[in-house]
Amino acid sequence: MRMTYCLCVLGLSLTLLGCSSNDKHETGPKALTVPKKHQGSYPIKAVGTTGMVADLVRNVGGEHVEVHQLLGADIDPHVYKPTDKDTSRLAGADIIFYSGLHLEGKMSEMFERMASKNACIGVADLLDRKLLAKDEENAWDPHIWFDVALWSKAAGVVGEALALYDPANATTYKANLARYQKELDDLHGFVERRIAEIPEKHRVLITSHDAFRYFGRAYKIEVHGIQGISTDVEASVADITRLVNFIVERKVRAVFVETSVNPRNMDALIEGCAKKGHQVARGGTLFSDAMGEEGTPEGTYAGMIRHNVNTVVTALK
Ligand code: ZN
Repeated sequence: MRMTYCLCVLGLSLTLLGCSSNDKHETGPKALTVPKKHQGSYPIKAVGTTGMVADLVRNVGGEHVEVHQLLGADIDPHVYKPTDKDTSRLAGADIIFYSGLHLEGKMSEMFERMASKNACIGVADLLDRKLLAKDEENAWDPHIWFDVALWSKAAGVVGEALALYDPANATTYKANLARYQKELDDLHGFVERRIAEIPEKHRVLITSHDAFRYFGRAYKIEVHGIQGISTDVEASVADITRLVNFIVERKVRAVFVETSVNPRNMDALIEGCAKKGHQVARGGTLFSDAMGEEGTPEGTYAGMIRHNVNTVVTALK
């Protein structure tokens, strides 16, 4: 029989049961069961898909959890196909955390298959839908990490899941969570203050794909991407022309490429603006769906957010 746990995390009601389904248009929050509790040795072997998710699990899991990050720097999760090595790594994991809301497009079905036997958690799938945004085609936007306050709620999901899987160390996970959420509160304040430094009329963020909707919503900056919320659909000439016209009309100062997305559309955009007599600058490179290299400041979630914010403010201020 499937057990359903009703949890209250930071005032957030979550029902946890099974991995996410493949439906981008789901109406309710997902739920998760942890089919078994931890019985083996420590540290617990966890796999996190993206750098952001792995970072979350590292912070909340602390010394009891060893985290393997599946997708390295610059890897685009929307189109990533798991290798045989990834599949065996996942099969050998005690617990799996993935971002969810269909971010890992090609891996979603695999996670679903694994859910019956493994603790397998789609972090964003468990958030209250009222907190989430949709795209123009009514699909849930998976890029929740760009609203730091929302990411803090995702940390709550990880904390509750670890506490369920490994009740013996629940107190430690809760303490780690509280400490990390305090750090995220400070980071959220930092982003708010820095973005507010950009004069309102210049507060426009143009990127390669629509990864910054939550960022725009949380920090009051208008956002536009050449491609939609997933990179698996190519931009059309019409998409580029539409944005060229927008940039020229609004006299946007700079545009930004992303480390995990091919810059060729951005080159076409800059060229299109130049043909219309508007020189738009390359504002720099942002981390969108992948963090920086391990061991660099941008190889952590907080470092990635700070890098992005400082890059954007410098170029647009
Ligand atoms: Zn994306």
